[in-house]
Amino acid sequence: STTFTRRPTRIVVDLDAIAGNLRAIGAHAGVPVMPIVKANAYGHGLVPVARHLQAHGATRFGVAFVEEAIALREAGVGLPILVLGGIFGPQVELFLRYGLEITVSSLSKLRQVEQLAEAMGRRAAIHLKIDTGMGRIGVQHANAGPFVEAAAGSRWCEVVGVYSHLACADDPASPMTALQLERFLEACAHFDRIGAPMPARHLANSGGILHFPQTHLDMVRPGILLYGVLPDAAARAAVAVRPALSLVSQVVYFKVVRAGSTVSYGATWTAPRDTRVITVPIGYGDGWPRALSSRGQVLVHGRRHPIAGRVCMDQFMVDIGDASAFNEDEVVLVGGQEGEAIRVEEVAVDAGTIPYEILVQLNERIPREYR
Ligand code: PLP
Repeated sequence: STTFTRRPTRIVVDLDAIAGNLRAIGAHAGVPVMPIVKANAYGHGLVPVARHLQAHGATRFGVAFVEEAIALREAGVGLPILVLGGIFGPQVELFLRYGLEITVSSLSKLRQVEQLAEAMGRRAAIHLKIDTGMGRIGVQHANAGPFVEAAAGSRWCEVVGVYSHLACADDPASPMTALQLERFLEACAHFDRIGAPMPARHLANSGGILHFPQTHLDMVRPGILLYGVLPDAAARAAVAVRPALSLVSQVVYFKVVRAGSTVSYGATWTAPRDTRVITVPIGYGDGWPRALSSRGQVLVHGRRHPIAGRVCMDQFMVDIGDASAFNEDEVVLVGGQEGEAIRVEEVAVDAGTIPYEILVQLNERIPREYR
């Protein structure tokens, strides 16, 4: 049983589902997996997720920022960790101190890392980032030759990996992915050309894992798929994964409203008939999108009911029609209840965004429970 120290709203994370998804992705791709746990493990909780995966077969991790990697080290995660983001000069020393793998995305950053590594007397483990079309960070593919040569010949850097990021992999019909793969392999060929050992080549995010097997190469980097969520509502799951996150609350207020009366800010919702309205204690201040105003649905007693009026900062209302509900009855915003389920992908469509944004916006105001 759960004791609520705050309002009865919580995120329930099924850690075994995430571990199972990791195994399923590994079996599907047939290569090592770098679980991506940035942004608080896509809202699931950075440290609990990484510790569980470390105990259940993970061999490395990917995060966005050095702070996230340090939080993992301080929580006892000893596996290799690649920081995917571009390096911010003054932080390079932290990478070496905490034994983190560095994304090197330009010649000048390579020089910066080398200098610090030499000064500290410690070799840096690096992954070269090639820009094959994402246009974010990385040496542009046409300039990869001199970059690969400089890195492969570096005394103070050990090139552990070489990678790029796919811009359109969630769309199986996009020609962009094949083009990016071709550019990436051409960039990697510079290692062979100069007779340097080929580091681990990695390219595939969740979309690549699902839709483009030829992008799996030596390692894959699943983020959203690890959590059992598909990158796009239209995506088809080529891998059997299970959603790990549920978002659950309770009825804190029940009333009957008369036809014609309005609910919430702006009085944008008008009761079309005499109806029953419940209030749920979570709002956009928790990361539950205001864009769901009069659009999203929730589950009460296994049935879907529409959100009525604007989502407030801490609460929102639901029109349950002639259904019955009592204070403290469970309300499911994401997840299953009595055989019915609401998926994050669906919430994202209702909110006019992507499932990633729904997940990572669920903030620290909502307590997480693990099972
Ligand atoms: N690799 C890199 C470099 C990323 O930035 C991300 C996330 O955006 C991922 C992998 C994981 O992407 P996804 O969540 O689509 O699997």
